Amino acid sequence: MAKDIDWGSLPFGYKETSKSFVANFKDGKWDEGTLTSDHTITLNECAGVLQYAQTCFEGLKAYTTADGKIVCFRPDLNADRMADSCARLEMPVFPKDKFIQAVKDVVKANLDWVPPYGSGATLYIRPYMFGSNAVIGVKPADEYQFRILVTPVGPYFKGGVKPIKVRISDLDRAAPHGTGDIKAGLNYAMSLHNIVDAHKCGYAENMYTDPATHTYIEETGGANILFVTKDGKLVTPKSNSILPSITRRSLLVVAKEYLGIEVEERQINKNELKDFVEVGLCGTAAVISPVGQIDDHGTSIMVPSGMEKFGPVLGKLRDTLTGIQMGTEKAPEGWVVQIA
Ligand SMILES: *Cc1c(COP(=O)(O)O)cnc(C)c1O
Repeated sequence: MAKDIDWGSLPFGYKETSKSFVANFKDGKWDEGTLTSDHTITLNECAGVLQYAQTCFEGLKAYTTADGKIVCFRPDLNADRMADSCARLEMPVFPKDKFIQAVKDVVKANLDWVPPYGSGATLYIRPYMFGSNAVIGVKPADEYQFRILVTPVGPYFKGGVKPIKVRISDLDRAAPHGTGDIKAGLNYAMSLHNIVDAHKCGYAENMYTDPATHTYIEETGGANILFVTKDGKLVTPKSNSILPSITRRSLLVVAKEYLGIEVEERQINKNELKDFVEVGLCGTAAVISPVGQIDDHGTSIMVPSGMEKFGPVLGKLRDTLTGIQMGTEKAPEGWVVQIA
């Protein structure tokens, strides 16, 4: 039974819940892992994560479907992506089957924190791992902790959809051949100054270009980008410094298989921005969030779908994927995983 909370007005913030999952890696192996109600971590002052930022994370959500089931969306892809992040950061992989089981166990231990259907709120699930023992020379830690915390978050669009204004960034998010394609905390640390500055200047997000030539559009600080062409094609940037969004990959399948929309993954020159009729950011939090204006150093590109609502293609795409997630549309095999 869900707690008596005003789910609709919850912010996107941290709120302590009943249990977290914790497992420790020591002497070359993971322990069994357990649920804990201790939400504080005590670490050596020289822990690898504190000195050299050896940490990565994932994000997914649990929610209540139209017929009252508690489910999550494609947790296998979060496990795979975290394995890729761990490999790149010289961290031990937490086995995929145990990852998925731990996600289920921690949600089950917090069932009263899962918001009801129709509230727009969800239980955000944050798996993460960090180097926990002392390291002073630059090298990987020998000990790691894998945790999953859950926290209820409110609807992404409170009081209706509001297309956002973004700017083409002067700074880079990721280096060529760097870590842009993994979900590492370090990618976010370096984006903080730029996002604070963007907000000061009246922008919701920074749109990053490719770090080698600053010619092609990549993604924003925490979301991939979708474009719709005049002839109704869905286009998304292709680059190996983009984080492979699970939402984006799912939306491409939905566009093709459910809506018969032609889909293209290719380099997108920044000069093409003025030609698109719809632009949206995509990620777990909002599924799709419409962009109404893109500023590029004094030039404003007004997206034809405007500053009031979703364009028809991205709106339909978002409705279809949320329908799949909420159980009102038939889901592809394995996409919606039942927890309770
Ligand atoms: C997490 C993340 C996304 C969105 O990925 P989803 O799996 O769809 O939530 C996009 N870009 C960056 C940089 C991210 O860290």
